[in-house]
Amino acid sequence: MELWYTEKQTPTVGITCKISRTLHTEQTEYQDLAVIDTEQFGRMLVLDGMVMTTIKDEFVYHEMISHVALNTHPNPENVLVIGGGDGGAIREVVKHPKVKKATLVEIDGKVIEASKKFLPEIAAALDNNAKVKVLVDDGIAHVRDKVGIYDVILVDSTEPIGPAEGLFALDFYRSLSRALKEDGIMVAQTESPFFNANLIQRVYRDIAEVFPIAKLYLAAIPTYPSGLWSFTMGSKRWDPEAVDETKIPELDTKYYSAEMHKAVFRLPRFVRALLK
Ligand code: SAM
Repeated sequence: MELWYTEKQTPTVGITCKISRTLHTEQTEYQDLAVIDTEQFGRMLVLDGMVMTTIKDEFVYHEMISHVALNTHPNPENVLVIGGGDGGAIREVVKHPKVKKATLVEIDGKVIEASKKFLPEIAAALDNNAKVKVLVDDGIAHVRDKVGIYDVILVDSTEPIGPAEGLFALDFYRSLSRALKEDGIMVAQTESPFFNANLIQRVYRDIAEVFPIAKLYLAAIPTYPSGLWSFTMGSKRWDPEAVDETKIPELDTKYYSAEMHKAVFRLPRFVRALLK
C-alpha cells in the first residue's frame, strides 16, 4: 500500500510526497511535530502539517537566509537566530569566518531535540560548537529588553500563525531595530510572492518604516508553497547592493555565491510591483 504525505499550502493547492517511513510524531506544547522519510526529498520535518525543511532542499533556504546579510555587514560578530530550531540557519551562520557568537532562540525545545536526533546533517552546529548558544524561549520576549547588542538578526520562523504571528508585526521589527547595533541588519523569511502577496506588501512596508534600507530577495525552494520564496532585509546602514563582491569570503555553499549576492535583488516585475 502506498503512503503519501500532503501539505495543503492553500485551501485549493498543495504538495504531495510519497512516504517511505514515518519516523516520529508528537504533539508538543506548541505544535504537531512529525519527521518522515519521503522518496523525493529525503527526510522531512513537518510542523502543524507544513513542510519546514527537507534534506534535499534545505541548503537553499538556510544559505539564503544567512549569507546575504552576513556578507553585507562588514563585521557580523554577534548573530541572533529567532526560530530556526532545526539548526540549519545556525549551521550556516557559524561557517562565516567573522562570526564570534551565534545565539538561537527557539520557542519549542522539542523541535531542537527531534532535529538533533533525526536530522543531524541540519542540526549539527547546535551541539558541539563553542560559538553557539541555544535558548528555548519566545523570540519576541527575548529581544524585548535587548538594546544595541546584535550585528545581525535572522527571523527563521514558521508561518505567521500561532506563536509566530507576532514575529511579523511592526512592533516586533521596532524591537529588532533596538536590539541591533547602530549598523545592524535583520532578515526575515517572508513567504511566497505567489500565495502571500498581501503579507509581503505589508511586511515590506513595515520594515521600510523602521529601517532606512529595506530590500526583498528571492530563492527557489521546491518544497515551500509555490516553490518561490522571499526574504526581507532591514538594514540600519549597509546596503547589500553596495557590497564589494571580491571581498566576500569563499564559503562551502551550494546555492549562495559571491557573484549572486547582488543579483538576488534583481526582482521579477510582478514582485517589484508589490514593493511600490
Ligand atoms: N524554515 C522554516 C520555514 O521557513 O517555514 C522554518 C524553520 S523553523 C522549524 C521555524 C521555527 O520557528 C519552529 O521551530 C517554531 O517552533 C519556531 N517559532 C515560532 N514562533 C516562535 C517564536 N515566537 N519564538 C521563537 N521561535 C518560534
